[in-house]
Amino acid sequence: MSSSFPTPKGVSEYVPPRADLFYAIRAAFAEQARLAGYGYLELAVFEDTNLFRRGVGESTDVVSKEMYTFEDRGGRSLTLRPEFTAGVLRSVLANGLHKQGALPVKVWTTGPAFRAERPQQGRYRQFYQLDLEAIGSDDPRVDAETIAIASRWYRSLGLTQIRLMLNSLGCRECRPAYRALLQEFLRGLDLDEPTRERIEINPLRVLDDKRPEVREQVAKAPLMADHLCDACQAHHDRVRELLADLGIEWEDSPTLVRGLDYYTRTTYEFEHPLLGAQSAIGGGGRYDGLSEDIGGPALPGIGFGLGLDRTILALEAEGTGFAAAPRCEVFGVALGEPAERRLFTMIDELRGAGVAADMAYGGKKLKGAMKDADRSGARYALILGERDIAAGSVQLKDLAGGDQTAVPLTELTATLKERLSR
Ligand code: AMP
Repeated sequence: MSSSFPTPKGVSEYVPPRADLFYAIRAAFAEQARLAGYGYLELAVFEDTNLFRRGVGESTDVVSKEMYTFEDRGGRSLTLRPEFTAGVLRSVLANGLHKQGALPVKVWTTGPAFRAERPQQGRYRQFYQLDLEAIGSDDPRVDAETIAIASRWYRSLGLTQIRLMLNSLGCRECRPAYRALLQEFLRGLDLDEPTRERIEINPLRVLDDKRPEVREQVAKAPLMADHLCDACQAHHDRVRELLADLGIEWEDSPTLVRGLDYYTRTTYEFEHPLLGAQSAIGGGGRYDGLSEDIGGPALPGIGFGLGLDRTILALEAEGTGFAAAPRCEVFGVALGEPAERRLFTMIDELRGAGVAADMAYGGKKLKGAMKDADRSGARYALILGERDIAAGSVQLKDLAGGDQTAVPLTELTATLKERLSR
């Protein structure tokens, strides 16, 4: 019987064996981040609510409708992080990392983020991201580097169908004039009331509307790409040259905008065609004014948030074969108490030698213990009886093929390591 407490609504929760995969893809990312010189940051899960109001922006759905905000016992307003960038930047500033070494400060982090959304496949209230940020440089190479890290990670998982969509959102110099132009165009369209309100608050988001009747009307809207200032145009061209140098394919996506207000210049999204409505699997971009917005010094930055939940769904949809290392390679089955005692130390020694090993507990008889061995997913069973102890050997049974051989105890670890590496 399950307990009377179900998993809270909208929480994406992972249990083995899926959680082993979840952990393995995170570990694969940690390696990519290390190889590119990014240090690990363990970040606050909740922040002062004003950090998100000021950083992410009042006009975004994330801030206006989706935050989990609460008052603590001291009457402070706190919010469970709906995204990572604002918190990472806050932490870099609070810990003075930008004053300690060469810029950019390169950091990554991971964990749950929280948004009060209507839950569906690929959209949750507690979901998980990998977040990577480079803070303190406006060099377009850093933009391309972040894209290269994400691309290499997706490839390392065996994903082949990921598409990269790229755009530039301009900067605080060129965007206001474009925004006004776009608003003027949008006000002339036949749109419903909530969309008309959005024109006044966040007109770029209207370009991102997925409804066909809206898409049709905005098809002729002026595009940021045609109104970039010279500096933004040069930056964007350079990023594209660098991506080409790295052999990374992308599609120019002039209507790509993101749900968070802080983005400037380079903006990108990774999409996966097999994920249906939730096809955005990761996204990132530059946020050159964000540090000043939250009271810090001028520090341009760029980074991304990659959705772990959707990455797992994509792996399952593509069937790439990427798998976590097995939790059990060898399973011990003992016949009788003295054998059980001896086997317990053998299993411990195997673990010490780097072999994933487990055994039947609770004094199980041969049949029950062999069933456990089959269910464990192990490749080999190690069967030990009193006669084997007397002979100084153990029976090694190939669980898939069925052959069984006696192996001298002194050679067990070496034999197993050799066979498991085949
Ligand atoms: P964002 O911070 O909105 O740019 O999101 C970055 C990535 O996080 C997206 O591309 C998704 O993969 C993932 N993501 C965002 N919101 C959710 C959610 N509610 N449930 C699951 N994944 C999400």
